[in-house]
Amino acid sequence: MIYLKTELENGKSVEVDVYGDEFYCKCPICGKEVHLDNEMIKHCVTEDDFSGISFYCEGCAKKRATTLGFCEFQQENINILTAVFEKVGSKSLRSELYIALDTYNQLIYNCLSDLEDSEKE
Ligand SMILES: [Zn+2]
Repeated sequence: MIYLKTELENGKSVEVDVYGDEFYCKCPICGKEVHLDNEMIKHCVTEDDFSGISFYCEGCAKKRATTLGFCEFQQENINILTAVFEKVGSKSLRSELYIALDTYNQLIYNCLSDLEDSEKE
């Protein structure tokens, strides 16, 4: 039997028997309780430090996947535009285009990170 042993504020120690289906964490974005399944527990065992582990709830995981998917999509667009800009003959026009792309890209990433922050609140 595996048990959790922890010391309370009053100095007394408590031992709690643990079963495989009794592990939970809080979603780092919305704070919702996440019940850890076998795969999640296996993942925890392979990590050196328990304190850094957390799992997203289903809703936040979905939103995050959408954001990451969009970032990949955006990166592909940037690669295409960069390749196109390289073909522009005028050096000054080319550098203006790069600056415009960079600004545009920065705005999108700012917007995405604001969105992520607002979901944490
Ligand atoms: Zn969540």
